[in-house]
Order: sequence, then structure tokens, then C-alpha cells
Amino acid sequence: MKKISLTLITAFLTVAVFAQARVPEATEAYVELEKVTPGTNNSAPSDAIILFDGTGLEAWQTQQMGPGASMSDISKQIPEMDPDYKGDPAPWVVENGELVVKPGSGGIQTKESFGDVQLHIEWLAPEQEGKEGQMYSNSGVFFMGLYEVQVLNSYENPTYSNGQAASIYKQHIPLVNASRPVNEWQEYDIIFMAPKFSDKGTVVSPARVTVFHNGVLVQNNVELLGPTCYIGSPFYVAHDSKMPIALQDHGDPMRFRNIWIREL
Ligand code: MG
Repeated sequence: MKKISLTLITAFLTVAVFAQARVPEATEAYVELEKVTPGTNNSAPSDAIILFDGTGLEAWQTQQMGPGASMSDISKQIPEMDPDYKGDPAPWVVENGELVVKPGSGGIQTKESFGDVQLHIEWLAPEQEGKEGQMYSNSGVFFMGLYEVQVLNSYENPTYSNGQAASIYKQHIPLVNASRPVNEWQEYDIIFMAPKFSDKGTVVSPARVTVFHNGVLVQNNVELLGPTCYIGSPFYVAHDSKMPIALQDHGDPMRFRNIWIREL
């Protein structure tokens, strides 16, 4: 008798638990989310850090490392990077609320350091007589100063595919070419996930990047092989978990505006 009732109770409880799991409430989660007021027309959401809003260059300074062209010996350069680097005021020009590269003055980098981020940046490749390929309106957004999303006039301006606009330079070809013509404003919305390293300096997870170019998905969570190198094959060298964002001076009077970033 006792045995039967125990079996009945067990069966009843099993049915009860099963029945409970089948109600819709069993799979509902309630969490108090942080509130963010979204922007309009690509303006910054309320929790973004403004890197350039058309006024000044307070968020920027001269770049500690040279532009992408000097990335070929990364193994020596990364250990020499000074986390407390204090550069000079950014030498680029603010004109009509736009940030203009001063060719030959070198790249600029943020004073603040970042790891995982969402970045919005708008850029314009000016028309230039007699220029072509990589030399026709080139710049770049370098996450952590090391990982370049290419900025280039890629509207009817052929070059190597893994070096055109929205490529992860020499690592990932964009899915499509969503370029607008020269002298038109273009947008990047980029998710950058920083690489993670163990205490021993091995890669725990590589850097990953997603890029929307003018609203079109062009890089879908691609995995980076290391810093984007001009010459040679990329490989990782362990570095800090947060480092500055840099913009490249490739000798062209590129224009930028409306730059904001959200830490993830
Ligand atoms: Mg570039």
C-alpha cells in the first residue's frame, strides 16, 4: 500500500513539474535593462562616447605607432607600445564641422583606450585627378591601433579585393561592394570584438569584426588572424585588453564626421 502511494505521489509530481514547464511563463525572463535613448539619422545614442561631433579634436592625439604601412614588424612594435603614451594634439584640420586628414602629418589615435566596441563613423573620399588603386583616397580605421578596416575609394577604382573599402586589410574581402562615388558621404557601423589572450600570451579568442557599409552587411563576424599587415602573414602578439582607435594618414585629404563609439 505504502509503495503504491509513493509511486502515485512520484507520478503526480512528475506530471505537475511537466505541466508547469509547459506553461508559457516557465520560459519568460525578466531583467531590468539599462535604458538607452537611440539617436536619429545616425546621431549618437545616449550611452555613446562622442569621438568627433564637428567641433574639436579633444578626443584625439598623435599616433604612437606609424600608419599601417609600418605594421610589418608587429612582434617588435607591440611590446614597445607605451600604455601611458601622451601624444601631441592631433594635427588634422577641422573644417565645416568635418575632420580632414592633413597629409603627411601622420595618423591620429584616441586618447581613450577601448576593447569590445560598436563604432559609427562617416567618411568621404575626395575626387583626385590621376590617382588610382590604393593611392586613390585611402585611409583606415584601426581598432586597438592594429586591426584595420580599410577606408578607400572603391567606386569604379579597382585594387586587390582584400584591400578595397570595408575589407579587413589583406585578411577578409567584403561580401559585396557597397561603395558610393567619390565626394559622397559613406558610413561604417562596425562591431569589433577584441582578441583575448591567456596569461601566457596565447590566443584564447581571436579578434572578430562585423561591418555594415552604408547599411549593407559586408563583414559578418569574421575572425582575424592577427594585426593587419602590409607585408607578410599576420600573427598575434599578446597586448593590452584596451587600446586606442586610430585613423590612418595615407597621404590623402580624406574627410570624417559623426564618430561615436559604444563600449560593449
Ligand atoms: Mg588604409
